[in-house]
Amino acid sequence: MQDEAALYGARMVQPGLTGADAEENTLRPQRLEDYIGQDKVKQNLKVYLEAARRRGEPMDHILLYGPPGLGKTTLAGIIANEMGVQIRITSGPAIEKPGDLAALLTNLQEGDVLFIDEIHRLSRQVEEVLYPALEDFALDIMIGKGPSAQSIRINLPRFTLVGATTRAGQLTGPLRDRFGVLLKLELYAPEELARIIQRSAGILDQPITPEGAYELAKCSRGTPRVANRFLKRVRDFATVLGDGVIDGEVSRMALKRMDVDALGLDELDRSLLRAIIEMYGGGPVGLETLAAALGEEAITLEDLCEPYLMQMGFLTRTPRGRCATSLAYAHLGMRAPEQTRPVSPEEAGQQSLF
Ligand code: ADP
Repeated sequence: MQDEAALYGARMVQPGLTGADAEENTLRPQRLEDYIGQDKVKQNLKVYLEAARRRGEPMDHILLYGPPGLGKTTLAGIIANEMGVQIRITSGPAIEKPGDLAALLTNLQEGDVLFIDEIHRLSRQVEEVLYPALEDFALDIMIGKGPSAQSIRINLPRFTLVGATTRAGQLTGPLRDRFGVLLKLELYAPEELARIIQRSAGILDQPITPEGAYELAKCSRGTPRVANRFLKRVRDFATVLGDGVIDGEVSRMALKRMDVDALGLDELDRSLLRAIIEMYGGGPVGLETLAAALGEEAITLEDLCEPYLMQMGFLTRTPRGRCATSLAYAHLGMRAPEQTRPVSPEEAGQQSLF
């Protein structure tokens, strides 16, 4: 598997983590009250945490799902903080063998949170080891081979697994069933992103006006990671080309210089829509054909461009391929042909993850 950062290149609007986001820990809220937005998730989580605390038990296992950059890792850290326990962070692809998982589990302390990012990428053998650990807090280990092989059971401390996935649909049924709490994170509203940007600017000691924050928020694809990344780059423009303050004008100028348009689309998003319209008469066109025409990997288009374009109602996925909607024509300043289908709410909306 190729390294994802290399695969996706360095897109400013890319919601996934890149090397440049390494310092994002400084911007992570530590307590539930500082976690902005996701009100439904927060309200329920507060009750579950309080109940576990009162009973003096660890939290039930939790699955967080939703697109990259929405705050799953952050929330896992907050859960550990609120419970007053340690968090161990790993990811599905990093746990290659059952032995790797066994080593992680046996090193946990009572009550600890084990965070497994991209949990849908765990191998089948590793998953098998995880089941008894989740259900009975025990590890079944085979010693020896052939007829003399023996299974021994090791007891584990009671812990909380927090699993995160961008693709809940790819989780196996047995694994999904072992989570007591399923929480879906939604894309953020611009007002919430503006608050996140203002909070981050405060931590970075960067003066910003409400208008400056809102201009960035509007273009951040509903994603805090993209919002924080914009903030850091726009800070550079404000320092070098402005008077150090991020106001509406500086934000608009910087976004333009980064090729991000008023709705948060970058050059790749626009090329994708333009290719469907100009080369394939508005669609339908297959993903692989489109990827070849653009010289991009299909997975890049599918994971990084399409969710947001569909969310905005610019693109529809049909069984016969991708189609540009009349909104896409309008956004690119092109005239839609008469036969362009109107977008149904299901097609325009975010794809259901389950
Ligand atoms: P994910 O694990 O879903 O990819 P992260 O938890 O790494 O996303 O969040 C990405 C960045 O966005 C973090 O630096 C964090 O500071 C910020 N962030 C995410 N959610 C929130 C939130 N609700 N409030 C404030 N900042 C947030």
